[in-house]
Amino acid sequence: MKVLILNGKIIDGTGSKPYFGNLLIKDDRIALIEKIDTALSREAVKEKIASFDADIVIDADQKAVAPGFIDIHRHLDLAAVFDPDFGRLELAQGITTALGGNCGLTPYPYTKAYGEQMMAYISPVVGSAPKGTRFSDYQSYYTALEKADPLIHTGTMLGTGSVRTAVKGYEKGPYTPEEMEKAKAYIREAMEAGAFGISMGIMYIPECYSSRRELVELAKEAAKYNRILTCHMRGEGDSLVSSTEEAIQIGREAAMPVNISHFKSVGLKNWNKAIHKAIEKIEDARAAGQEVTVDFYPYTGGATTLMSMLPPDMVKFNVKDTLDELSSQRGFDRFKKEIYQDHDGWDNMVLNIGWDRIIISSLNQPANKEYMGMSLQEIADDNGIDDPADVMRELLVSEEGKVGVIQMSMSQEDVDTIAKLPYSKIISDALYDDTDSPHPRLYGAFPKAIRDYAINRRILPLEMVIRKMTKMPAETFGIKGRGEIALGSYADINIFDPQVFKDMATWKRPRQKAEGLDMTFLDGRLAWNEGRPTRAYKGGAIKVTGE
Ligand SMILES: [Zn+2]
Repeated sequence: MKVLILNGKIIDGTGSKPYFGNLLIKDDRIALIEKIDTALSREAVKEKIASFDADIVIDADQKAVAPGFIDIHRHLDLAAVFDPDFGRLELAQGITTALGGNCGLTPYPYTKAYGEQMMAYISPVVGSAPKGTRFSDYQSYYTALEKADPLIHTGTMLGTGSVRTAVKGYEKGPYTPEEMEKAKAYIREAMEAGAFGISMGIMYIPECYSSRRELVELAKEAAKYNRILTCHMRGEGDSLVSSTEEAIQIGREAAMPVNISHFKSVGLKNWNKAIHKAIEKIEDARAAGQEVTVDFYPYTGGATTLMSMLPPDMVKFNVKDTLDELSSQRGFDRFKKEIYQDHDGWDNMVLNIGWDRIIISSLNQPANKEYMGMSLQEIADDNGIDDPADVMRELLVSEEGKVGVIQMSMSQEDVDTIAKLPYSKIISDALYDDTDSPHPRLYGAFPKAIRDYAINRRILPLEMVIRKMTKMPAETFGIKGRGEIALGSYADINIFDPQVFKDMATWKRPRQKAEGLDMTFLDGRLAWNEGRPTRAYKGGAIKVTGE
């Protein structure tokens, strides 16, 4: 099978200046790249076609021809296995490869003792699985992923938060030596079975109970296999700088590359300050030869769970005990006091950004549905409640802890500062919880980055934005043969007009697919055309091989 793409403006993924050119794809690889000085005339096109004997000829008509986009941070773990539609809204954005298993929160390893609790706990991030879903380790998950055969190339990592849950539940305190051995065995299993790396979610229960030393010990196990550590840090607000130092230190002590996930500075009083200090730490480490990179999503609001906003002292061994305590008068009184206090080493988002910047994005109880899209302040005002903390408690208890929120917590200037870093990559951080009002990044992060950063505000040249979503993530996460238009690369290719390709998802109307992508090839086969997936070819499960 030969595909000839003529007359394209090739943006090859390396950040080099775009050039006019022709591409020949043979089977699943790029077989020839031909630079041309100017766009081809009609006659020249005819000649070209005759000289190539291709099965399919596409006149790209001077549109952008770029590598398929790679999103190394989507919480797709369950969606890729259980949602038959998975891959559609990804392909609409030009995403041809995606990695899940982020932020320490993976639906494996599932254990008898803590599995159900874990699945409930991570559901605001990854969504829920059909009853009876039990991935006892990475391989059992991967087998299901292979069977599901998703539309786009899909791989995952192992979350060490879930490893900790599997080994010791939601208990505080250090690992015992036996527990540590068990945890390491889970990591070895995943690395041997081809996981792309490990992810930490140090901000989240129960991983927040782990010391840096423990985290280093776990990371070392993955380092033996030359994999990456990607890290949702302990804090992104008041403790951003010390948390950045901690992530760097884990990478250094474990002797492995570390990537800081959704790098940002949250909290009004930290805006335009903390991020510069954190960047200094990263650049010092990089100057000393350490591999430290970051990624970011191109929005000023983030998504998390309402549970994660409970003061740390209020959090018990498990979700049920936590909510029982919160339901009691004594617990309620304590909560109302602590939610307005600073806590050492923990970002109090209520103080950092205020109730009016915390917006409900995911709920399950029909009685609460009317609160979707409202801030906690608005809900309180509408109901004549003086203290929005009362609303927070009420929602947590009635929803059994499963409440998703969007925090409008970042400054555009800070996000732009991160976008301009030569070592920052673009991600979506898409969540797949079952909600009518998801974060718009699920539907639009990649075209938004192009539109906002390259076309409208011109913060970066188009080829640099493309680089941050193709070659850079492929290199950092060891996704071989993808992310670049180069001789011999897999032919994952997007064709689009950068002026037309657009994200449609907004905060008010998030469930809008991106529009304007002309064509996408996956391994040389047409996978997206005329505004829909062709379903003629599937990318399927991917893993690390050959090591
Ligand atoms: Zn995260």
